[in-house]
Amino acid sequence: MKIKVTQQAAKKIRRGYPLLRNEDLATAAETKEWVSFVDDKNNFLGQGYLGQQNKGAGWVISRQPEPLDQQFFKKVFSKAKELRHSFFINPETTAFRLFNGEGDGLGGLTVDWYRGYGVFSWYNQSIYQHSQELIAAFQAVYPEMLGASEKIRFQSELPESRWLFGEEPEEPLLIKENGIQFATYLNEGLMTGIFLDQREVRNQLVEGFVSGQTVLNMFSYTGAFSVAAAMGGALETTSVDLAKRSREKTAEQFMVNQIPPESQKIIVMDTFEFFKYALRKKLTYDVIILDPPSFARNKKKTFSVAKNYGDLISQSLAILNPGGKIIASTNAANVNAVKFQGMIEDAFREEQRSFQLKDKFSLPFDFHVATEFPEGDYLKVLFYQVD
Ligand code: SAH
Repeated sequence: MKIKVTQQAAKKIRRGYPLLRNEDLATAAETKEWVSFVDDKNNFLGQGYLGQQNKGAGWVISRQPEPLDQQFFKKVFSKAKELRHSFFINPETTAFRLFNGEGDGLGGLTVDWYRGYGVFSWYNQSIYQHSQELIAAFQAVYPEMLGASEKIRFQSELPESRWLFGEEPEEPLLIKENGIQFATYLNEGLMTGIFLDQREVRNQLVEGFVSGQTVLNMFSYTGAFSVAAAMGGALETTSVDLAKRSREKTAEQFMVNQIPPESQKIIVMDTFEFFKYALRKKLTYDVIILDPPSFARNKKKTFSVAKNYGDLISQSLAILNPGGKIIASTNAANVNAVKFQGMIEDAFREEQRSFQLKDKFSLPFDFHVATEFPEGDYLKVLFYQVD
């Protein structure tokens, strides 16, 4: 099927831009099959598919009129595998991203590696329609993969997670990252217990960035930053998350690294409640880590990174020791790096605090980003020292 795109979209596709938005389509069309994109004069531009997901309405996956068959997908997956050669030979890190959607040439699919097992994530209905052929091509490129689960990351009646093929590993599946262990669960909802894109940030903590200091980890999930901090010599960590499950999940992450969880603080509480609680109890910290979800809702209010990140910073300053550090992180795609940095530094200035930006992180290499699609790099992490 041929899909006509606007003149502007045609220009973008010719320059290698992979994403199509609804306004790029010159004619209304709906199909889950592979399609050819053409300009207003019917000239071939590329091939791909239409599929609604958070990022847009479709992806270009080839700019040649070649068949999109097993051979094509094997080539795409092999190229991604070669890029990650150094990861496979590093025994200290056994979990990383194998395939990063549009960053590796095929938007809508990511695949992660957890010590021999795969986790496939499908981001729209159309790509999922082709899952069988894509998985077959992937398995041909990774005969060493022992088994895999899949995650459905689009609106659907399907279960969020299910086992796809091969044996299921023992649970938890222990993976290593920079020599530290993490307990993971590959077939339990959408999340596995660790966000692999924060590896380099955790490594800074492991390497001693917060050594000898007290660390408050807000929105801690399974406490991965706390574990990294503790392994890197932090005096004490406090992990705060609203979800009840976070207590046992965090305790488990400490235990698999031989750190007694009783030696650390794990608190189930709303972050904004905790700020008040800490003020009341006069609790202060040398380091505060802020890694909220892009949007969060509790009983009383809604929080969004785009609107409220500055509040997190100002409230943190009230319980930060002099000369303390703030690690500010977000994966919000609607807040670019410049805006994020601006929100944080405006809050520092409003509170009349001088600050130094010490370090900056974005996606690690295995979360490969295409040069033509730099907005694929959604991760922004800034390390500050505040005087
Ligand atoms: N920093 C974590 C990932 C955070 S995921 C890591 O590196 O592993 C976001 C977490 O925020 C989830 O665990 C969710 O339960 C928690 N959360 C959402 N709203 C919250 C709130 N108002 N207060 C505290 N935690 C919240």
